[in-house]
Amino acid sequence: MGIFKEEHEIFRKSVKKFIENEMVPHIEEWEEAGEIPRSLWKKMGEQGYLATWVDEKYGGSGAGFEYSVVVIHELARADIGLGIASHSDIMVPYIADFGTEEQKQKWLPGCVSGDNIVSICMSEANTGSDLQAIKTTAKRDGDYYVVNGQKTFITNGASTDTAVVAVKTDTTAVPPSKGVSLLCIEAGTPGFIKGRKLNKLGLHSEDTSELIFEDCRVPVSNLLYEEGRGFKCLMSELQRERVSVTIWAQGMAERILEDVMEYAKTREAFGKPIGCHQHNAFKIAEMATEVELGRALLDKLIEDYIAGKDIVTKVSMAKWWIAEMTNRLAYNALQLHGSYGYMEEYPIARLYRDARAQSLYAGTTEIMKLIISRNLGFRA
Ligand SMILES: Cc1cc2nc3c(=O)[nH]c(=O)nc-3n(C[C@H](O)[C@H](O)[C@H](O)COP(=O)(O)OP(=O)(O)OC[C@H]3O[C@@H](n4cnc5c(N)ncnc54)[C@H](O)[C@@H]3O)c2cc1C
Repeated sequence: MGIFKEEHEIFRKSVKKFIENEMVPHIEEWEEAGEIPRSLWKKMGEQGYLATWVDEKYGGSGAGFEYSVVVIHELARADIGLGIASHSDIMVPYIADFGTEEQKQKWLPGCVSGDNIVSICMSEANTGSDLQAIKTTAKRDGDYYVVNGQKTFITNGASTDTAVVAVKTDTTAVPPSKGVSLLCIEAGTPGFIKGRKLNKLGLHSEDTSELIFEDCRVPVSNLLYEEGRGFKCLMSELQRERVSVTIWAQGMAERILEDVMEYAKTREAFGKPIGCHQHNAFKIAEMATEVELGRALLDKLIEDYIAGKDIVTKVSMAKWWIAEMTNRLAYNALQLHGSYGYMEEYPIARLYRDARAQSLYAGTTEIMKLIISRNLGFRA
């Protein structure tokens, strides 16, 4: 990738080594447990791998986005730690970008050390894509908001220390988006109940949970930015979120390609490596081409993002295309593994089911196409 200099490659080597030594050997155990232990988050914090970009005055390294790209990409290649990458580059930015000085001093140092795991809580049982239709309410009562409602599909939900929660502070606002605000709700606040850890198709080591708020009294000082401006904050942070998950999907695709090439060279059928049958050789050629296309699209996107350009259309394009490409690759790579691909002992089984979520979270493929077509002047 053109954006990387020698210092980024040195950093990559150390992140890679850390993942190989401290994470890969535990994947099965964590998949079984349904979460990655806090001790691992703290180890990553000690190494300076969490939210590397956070300003030094709050305990971070003040590193450029290139360092985030390295961490996300390497975790994705190992297909472990999506919640950790999301904490660093999707959730913590809400506090850094929209928090007051006091809020940043209170919460950011823990985000860097692994003591304060953050989640972003938008989705509800009855609404995901249509965010302005959320039903969780926050009614002002003196110096508090009283929050009632339920969130679902929340990454890092069970382990969260600070939940950034999208609430309706005005249920009559027109348009409804103007009634949305963001509140930071700390674990342990009475009325903040951690619900079920959800039983998912894949991403088994990721903690994806329900969170419930019952007459939960949240100090007004925990409001992020301004009342009624939460939707704007969400729309702006969603761009970075989509860049991050696209890096993740591309990292998975590159790993899948490497694995299938290795397998296709060593497994033999009818007297030659399975990759040397023309159909399979062409399949691999197609996969390698798609990975290359994804890489080119992503590199340009990252460059534009770092340069501060408007990336809304481009990130939507890259998000849906690379997510779908990763799924195609996972399907074809599993097929090339034959029945071994269906067995847990080969990583392709896990990569296949984990890839499936890529086109769902952070905005589905259809929502990405909606944004692109609208920006091209076509309103459905
Ligand atoms: C592993 C995982 C982790 C997640 N983590 C989080 C998290 O941390 N925080 C959080 O808030 N949420 C999270 N989510 C939720 C996720 O972002 C939503 O599920 C997603 O946005 C889709 O919403 P939905 O499931 O309600 O689908 P719906 O909005 O009900 O959509 C259902 C289907 O209809 C399509 N559709 C909807 N509207 C349109 C339209 N206008 N035109 C065409 N098609 C349309 C969708 O594309 C989809 O195919 C996570 C989900 C998963 C799977």
